[in-house]
Parts: sequence; C-alpha cells; structure tokens
Amino acid sequence: MNAYDIIKKKRDGGELSKEEIEFLVKGIANGNVPDYQIAAWAMAVYFQGMNERETTDLTLAMAHSGDTVDLSKVQGIPVDKHSTGGVGDKTTLVAVPLTAAAGVPVPKMSGRGLGHTGGTIDKLESIPGFKVEIDVAEFVQQVNRVKAAVISQSGNLVPADKKLYAIRDVTATVDSIPLIASSVMSKKLAAGARGIVLDVKVGKGAFMKDLDQAFQLARLMVDIGFKAGREVVAVLSDMDQPLGCAVGNALEIEEVVKTLKGEGAPDLTELSVTLASYMLLVGGRVPDFASARELVQKNLTSGAGFEKFREMVIAQGGDARCLDRPQDYFRASLQVSVPSPSDGYVTDIDAEQVGLATMRLGAGRERAGERIDHSVGVVLRRKKGDSVRSGQALAIIHANDPYRLETARAMLAQAYRLDQQPPPKRPLILGVVTQDEVIRYV
Ligand code: URA
Repeated sequence: MNAYDIIKKKRDGGELSKEEIEFLVKGIANGNVPDYQIAAWAMAVYFQGMNERETTDLTLAMAHSGDTVDLSKVQGIPVDKHSTGGVGDKTTLVAVPLTAAAGVPVPKMSGRGLGHTGGTIDKLESIPGFKVEIDVAEFVQQVNRVKAAVISQSGNLVPADKKLYAIRDVTATVDSIPLIASSVMSKKLAAGARGIVLDVKVGKGAFMKDLDQAFQLARLMVDIGFKAGREVVAVLSDMDQPLGCAVGNALEIEEVVKTLKGEGAPDLTELSVTLASYMLLVGGRVPDFASARELVQKNLTSGAGFEKFREMVIAQGGDARCLDRPQDYFRASLQVSVPSPSDGYVTDIDAEQVGLATMRLGAGRERAGERIDHSVGVVLRRKKGDSVRSGQALAIIHANDPYRLETARAMLAQAYRLDQQPPPKRPLILGVVTQDEVIRYV
C-alpha cells in the first residue's frame, strides 16, 4: 500500500477500504506521509466525497491515532459539547456551568481560535491566572469535585486531526462534510464522554453555509457517535450574524458573566439554554426535554450557573475578582464607535467579516502560534432586525493600535447592511437531529 495509490483511487471516485484509510491516518500521525500528499488527498476527498462507511472508518482511525482520555473514574455520565465554529460563540462557557449546576459532569476539552472563528481556550486565558493545561488525573478530580472543567486538548490527543486540520486550513478543504464529521467526532470519541451535544453552525459565519448540507453533516455525526456507543444530539443554529454582542476574548468573558446573571442577549441565552438542556438529557439527568429546560432555566434565574462558573474559574487558578468587576480588568485603551450612515433597519451583519475584523484587531491569529491581544474586539450595539438612526452606534470597537482600529472600522462598516424595511425573521435554532428523529424548524 502507498499514499500515491490511495490519493489516485480517491481522485478517480473510488471507495477506500478500511485498511487504506488506516494506513493513511497512521502515516499522517507519524509523519510518514508528507504534507503535499495529505493536501492532495484532502482535495480529492473534497471533490469526490466519502460514503458513511469510509467516514466512520476515518473517524475511528483518527480517534485512535494518539492518546484517548479515560473518564471511567468520573462519577455519573460524562457529557461533552462541541461547536463547529462561529463568531461570538461563547455558548460553552454559559452551557457548561448551567449543566454542571444540575449535577451532570462536564469534562470539556476545547480548542483555540481558528481563522475567523474564536476558541474557548483563548477566551478563558483572558482571566488572569486561569490554567488551561491540566493533566488528566487532576482534570478528572476537578470534574468529580466541581462537576465542570474546561481545559485545552492534551498534547497527543488525535494527532492525525491536528496535522490534517492545519493542512485543510491552508488548502481550502475545511468545508467538506466527511472531513468535518471525522474531525469533530474523532476528537469527541477520543475525549471519552458518553453523551455529546453538537452545535452545528449554519450561515455566512459558519463552515456550512447551506442548511441541507448542515443537516447531512449533523445526521452523519449522530450516526457515527451511535456506532461508537455514544449518545449524540446535534442542534443546528444560525450563524449568519455573530452570536450575542461581544466578539473578542475578554469582551466575551464579560458577556458570559452578564448572561449567567440573566442579563444576556436573547440569542446567546436561548442557544445556551437549549444546548445545556440537551446536555442534561444525554447525561440522563432528566426524562425529557421539557424538564431539562425547566431545570436549566431555574439554574440561570437563581444564579446557580454563575456560581458554578466562578467555582470552576477558582478551581483552575483564575482570579475570580474579574468576574465581578470586568471593566477594571478587561479594557483596551481605545474605544471607538462605528456610526450608522443612515436611518433604517439592520438587515444583515456578515459574521465572517466581523470575525475577520476582530482578528485584525489582534484578537485572533493570522498565523499559528501567534500571540493574541485578549482585550481587543467588537461589541455590537445593533443586531439584525434592530432599528437605528443616522449617526447612532452600530458597534463599538475596542483596540490598542490606531492603525488596526481603522482597518477594523472599515471592515465593520461593510459588514452591516441597512434597509428601510426590517428583514424577515429567521429562527435561531434551525433544527435538531437525534438518533431517532430529525426536527426542522425552517
Ligand atoms: N471544527 C472541527 O473541530 N473540525 C472541523 O473540521 C471543522 C470545525
């Protein structure tokens, strides 16, 4: 067997055997297959696709390409959550404490920002002292004590995905259904949770722009999880505009705190409550979705979710005083408004443009490994459907560098579309896929 023949077979539309897939994944993980062959194979998959059997074999081979996490010592049914990537998506940091406050253990490994999308680990690192690198034994102990821990993916977990993802990112092969499904599910299977809730983003700011394709991706991931003995629910949610108002690391932590205190933006609150409710359901805490929602809502209103977040921050060495006085901890030196050019309604906010503008401010990496500025970002003052008068703020930019600020200001002005009529309403939650059913809200 050799990589050349496998690439050629896929290029010509052939179906790869389990052995061929395992050979390739092993070679990706141990460096025997060079980057140019990995790139060529990814492009062949991008154009020719993979059937469900190939995608499942790819997922399992990747999940076993490095270490796996043993969660057998976690008390209760460990539950995980994953988003396919969005702008302003801080739902993990709201949903995890709400779930843990109901007694369901959440051992969560998260990633850093990628391209125009943000990453939970970067957001958490804006909290002074917060440790994201913890060994697995301590991680499990914290989950048993606090019920929640969010750490960065350990060194040798799914090395094949790490390599493949970095190559896909620079070869325009990210948005392929079998490649996304295997990337997401290999990480989730290796991370060991028994219940998994996926947030599949759909829209301009997401890798999946098309709703039917997003449903296909969701169905595939749920089925792969089932075959691997996990219970998976996929929620499809809108990512045409950023989620919530803040985009940028520390600004998003501030918004998480507001949301957990019951003062969050309606879209962020709604999606976080929905995800946490499904997390309770796959964690076996409640018999049905209605009781799950009631319990999550109670934990939000009572402040139990916020207290759980504080407990987790303290357990991971973070300075929890910043949660009470974010303005004293998290402020960039320049704050400038993006004024509306006319009266009207906001009909569109291009999430990808907002993500890229935030990246230009320094909140994300243009190259892997770059240092980021946690304090910079954007706070949207108007969202889709809101009315605005000429000169009123559409958004506030938080920056530390006047040149970067000007670039971001121009990009943000372009990201907003205004009209005299309000836009048609589109629901935030577009559908739900479980093992037994597919629910479509649009
Ligand atoms: N998120 C992932 O983890 N992998 C992908 O391929 C896309 C989004």
